Amino acid sequence: MSDRMERDQIIDAARRTVALGLTHGTSGNVSARVGDGMAITPSGLDYGLLEREDLVVMDLDGTVAAGQPRVPSSEWRMHAAIYRARPEVRAVVHGHSPAATAVACFGRDIPPFHYMIAVAGGDSIRCAPYAPFGSDALAALAVEALTDRWACLLAHHGLLAAGTTMDQALAVASETEFLADLFLRLLPLGEPRLLSAGQLADVLERFRHYGQRGRGA
Ligand code: 13P
Ligand code: ZN
Repeated sequence: MSDRMERDQIIDAARRTVALGLTHGTSGNVSARVGDGMAITPSGLDYGLLEREDLVVMDLDGTVAAGQPRVPSSEWRMHAAIYRARPEVRAVVHGHSPAATAVACFGRDIPPFHYMIAVAGGDSIRCAPYAPFGSDALAALAVEALTDRWACLLAHHGLLAAGTTMDQALAVASETEFLADLFLRLLPLGEPRLLSAGQLADVLERFRHYGQRGRGA
């Protein structure tokens, strides 16, 4: 099976994370499910220099197929744990974006002060407790914070988003950064007023028909 399409998607998405301000420098990482495993960005390599061969294909237990020149992202455990726990997920994006990371440094969940929170799947974007980058502990905490969600924050670290497609993972990451930025603007004014459970259920229902979904396209 060729994984060329997934490799191209990952390179394009990795570059977009930088262009969208979702990460900077060599922080962050991007992966896509490939067969029973995944392909992931290499550790510490500038996305501008990425070639298809730099991506690392590996099993979800961490076994790296022989003959690959690059060391996988230090966060491969976190990506693999999400693919193991969430069969519907096909893409994962992690970044150190300014607003989401700032909220994560407070260790706070993003509450439902704006209806777009529903894009992340529920009435909050949780913040996973701190664990060191690259650790099994961080992988487990991230999976837990992502329960019934497409995004979470990682305390004192950054943001994490998943999707059934790469476009969804990027869109949710971008929306999470937008909401975190709003939250930081609101906090100096006091705790924002929140939407009710009923109002959010209504938003989730409206999302089922939003955009081009009604056209059978
Ligand atoms: P990698 O360069 O190893 O992917 O690590 C970046 C990062 O964001 C660690 O959390
Ligand atoms: Zn990171």
